[in-house]
Amino acid sequence: MVELHWNVVYGPVASRRFGPSLGVNLQPPDRKVCTFNCTYCQYGWTRLEADGKLPVSSAWPKREQIARTVERELTARGAAGEAIARLTIAGHGEPTLHPEFPAIVRDLRTVRDRVAPSLPLVILSNSTTLDRLAIRKALAELDERHMKLDAGDDETLQRINGATVPVEKIVSGLKKLHDVRIQAMFVTDRSGRLDNTGQEAVSHWLAAVKAVKPREVHIYTIDQQPAFPFLRAVSADRLETIARRVRDLGIPALVYA
Ligand code: SF4
Repeated sequence: MVELHWNVVYGPVASRRFGPSLGVNLQPPDRKVCTFNCTYCQYGWTRLEADGKLPVSSAWPKREQIARTVERELTARGAAGEAIARLTIAGHGEPTLHPEFPAIVRDLRTVRDRVAPSLPLVILSNSTTLDRLAIRKALAELDERHMKLDAGDDETLQRINGATVPVEKIVSGLKKLHDVRIQAMFVTDRSGRLDNTGQEAVSHWLAAVKAVKPREVHIYTIDQQPAFPFLRAVSADRLETIARRVRDLGIPALVYA
């Protein structure tokens, strides 16, 4: 399991997809706040309040602190000649849940433009908050939007992602976003219950991908200790077979095995 990030800025992480990626964590330092509870989450299970709701935390990092920390880190790393390919809003939970998310995106753009104007500012999001116009507008301000979509039917989404949000709502939000990259994690387990690679699950997922019309799809599998310890990685051959079916839809698909 990967430890929670105690700082706003972490890394650079050697990302399979991005190269050296400097992470920005908008989460409270002591807990993961997420609308999903993915079986593969490298940060462990999502803890909810006794009433089943997301924790209300006063420990979200402040907007000013986030901008100040990112500016200081970018300046220092630029001066040291450190290679960074992306400034990635991600962290140990869903970043769009920060109560000041739209303002933070504006601040980060300003900082990036001032300190490292050629550095792409990107996000990894689980796609569950797109019913909110303010979130969609903020996401549109970023250079790249990498949006999670692991299943196209509610049962698989519930099993793999612990979702309480229906697929239809997620797909509807994704369709309203411009220039989306879909990130899809494929996993399996010994029982076949936690598996989104079966024929039926993949067919539903392909239908959802087709409806979203993303710019491209990134397909990958676990490479860290997952929350559910018996989850297994999917073979590169199987991932490539799924990618070919995406390409058959006329959508570019890249495999990160
Ligand atoms: S969406 Fe991301 S942070 Fe949230 S549970 Fe899933 S993998 Fe973990």
